Amino acid sequence: MALDPSLMKSMIAAAAQRIIDNADELTALDQAIGDGDHGINMKRGCSEVLAQLDAIAEKPVGEALKAVGMALVMKVGGASGPLYGSLFMGMGKAFGDKPADMALLSDAFAAGVDAVAARGKSKGGEKTMLDVLIPVRDALKAGGSDLATRLREAAAVGAAATIPMRATKGRASFLGERSVGHLDPGARSSQLLVEALSPFLDA
Ligand code: ADP
Ligand code: MG
Repeated sequence: MALDPSLMKSMIAAAAQRIIDNADELTALDQAIGDGDHGINMKRGCSEVLAQLDAIAEKPVGEALKAVGMALVMKVGGASGPLYGSLFMGMGKAFGDKPADMALLSDAFAAGVDAVAARGKSKGGEKTMLDVLIPVRDALKAGGSDLATRLREAAAVGAAATIPMRATKGRASFLGERSVGHLDPGARSSQLLVEALSPFLDA
């Protein structure tokens, strides 16, 4: 797979649209264990990405990803804005100006996930987006046939695993035991991103 700017443009558009289309669900999830703004936050950020899409797509892949990250930092707000910003900026930095292939995509995604963990001072098992991002990183690294299905499965299993977890990071941690039994909103938004992006990787 060669990740050229036109494929990149389609991928960014699909990911942003998927979040926008599911903003109400994200808000409902955040109403249960947070402050109910995750869908609104993410929709605002993704609308900005779509507004900048033509300009973003003219850039080399690494620069384009950094621009996506910047737009998210500026517009999403909350805890998730800087975290998703770190994911995309971390990926963009790792891409640099190297030709983008699958091996580099896997390494760059891993660098983005590390950037989220560093920014959030968080790790897997804390009921956050990392519970989706980490298993997806591992599935991407493992590769193999039917990669899109594997990535979607890793994201689904990771998101579902947050339901019985007790949150120890972010607003949901204020609820302590009462955070148990709910799907984490950030884990769900990460799952939506993986669902939107993974089909492109089998092409
Ligand atoms: P806020 O919590 O400020 O209202 P959002 O509602 O937009 O921000 O985002 C909440 C999501 O952010 C959570 O569901 C969780 O997945 C993620 N999150 C919060 N804190 C952290 C952290 N320290 N590390 C990783 N993810 C986090
Ligand atoms: Mg919130």
